[in-house]
Amino acid sequence: MAVCGWKRIVLKVGSALIAPNAAGCSTRYLLSIARFIAECRAAGTEVVLVSSGSVAAGRNAISYKQLPLPINVKQAMAAVGQSRMMASWAQLFDFDCAQILLTHDDLKDRRRYLNIDNTLRTLLANQVLPIVNENDTVATAELKVGDNDNLAAMVAILADADALLICSDIDGLYTANPRTVPDAALVPQVTQITPQIYAMAGGSHHAIGTGGMQTKIQAADKATRAGIDTLIINGQKAATFDELLANRQCGTLFHKQQERVSAKKHWLRHSLKPRGQLVIDEGAGQALLSRGASLLPSGITAINGDFEKGDAVLVQSTTGQTLAQGISQYSSPELNKIRGVHSQQIANILGYCPSEVAIHRDDLVLFRD
Ligand code: GLU
Repeated sequence: MAVCGWKRIVLKVGSALIAPNAAGCSTRYLLSIARFIAECRAAGTEVVLVSSGSVAAGRNAISYKQLPLPINVKQAMAAVGQSRMMASWAQLFDFDCAQILLTHDDLKDRRRYLNIDNTLRTLLANQVLPIVNENDTVATAELKVGDNDNLAAMVAILADADALLICSDIDGLYTANPRTVPDAALVPQVTQITPQIYAMAGGSHHAIGTGGMQTKIQAADKATRAGIDTLIINGQKAATFDELLANRQCGTLFHKQQERVSAKKHWLRHSLKPRGQLVIDEGAGQALLSRGASLLPSGITAINGDFEKGDAVLVQSTTGQTLAQGISQYSSPELNKIRGVHSQQIANILGYCPSEVAIHRDDLVLFRD
């Protein structure tokens, strides 16, 4: 049975767990996290890992003592540390790991967003563990998400995860800072993220990582609004992972604010402005409506409008009925070349084939829904 009933999770592990002494990587905390990941996968829960640690793991390779570290020094450290961090994870698994480096710009750009989404789907379908980090070596301050808690929330939304697990170095959210307030109590559940919840989180206290409790709450806020349950857990304790594997809650659970599927459908239907229409034949219409299938180029008979890959389009029957709205994997000029064509022919016609479908079923909302 899937761990805690989750089909797909995003697990965020911060620098303090990867490189606890900021002097290269350590497996001290990673062993129990890696076991958790392996057990999740064995139980049928897909995992996407968001791992920090590039700067911390590469710190001792660049001699620079003054603080704060200038950006070029941090970027050089990240260039060394990113591969160290990946190697550190890879040695703990007997399956393949894949490195995905993102900037905020990649997530904002519709076409790149779609490419990341397709790549993640392909990796997961092939049982590869995606390991995501910010592309620290190239990202400038303006292009950065900045902290991996928020990055993990964005990845959870992109990956359609049903839970986001953020590892911390304490057991979860406390009513006050437990390091300074002795009677601070752990908050096991948060049903709504209010200013009081942010106030409990205080400021960042970390010497190694960028975030603190604040960025974790921001991440929980983003994810729960998109219908994703979010847990802040203690990643330093092996017992945390034993609890989760026994399907018991631990840490602080931030409840999703709505169902994830309806959040995505709402976004697809109401937040995206359609830039064109695809007219489809009856067979394709049947496949969409009765089988929940993706839309293949072979079922498209006409394309109206001028749109880019990643734009929203309406899907219409030959009789003019609007059946659905979805995100196109191809631009209108590309679709004009491959409409009515079998997917295996796409590469011959276009010279490339980033996707066998015109609209993936996960990116499609039927108007009867
Ligand atoms: N991307 C940064 C790194 O890998 C970490 C950002 C953060 O600490 O949240 O070093």
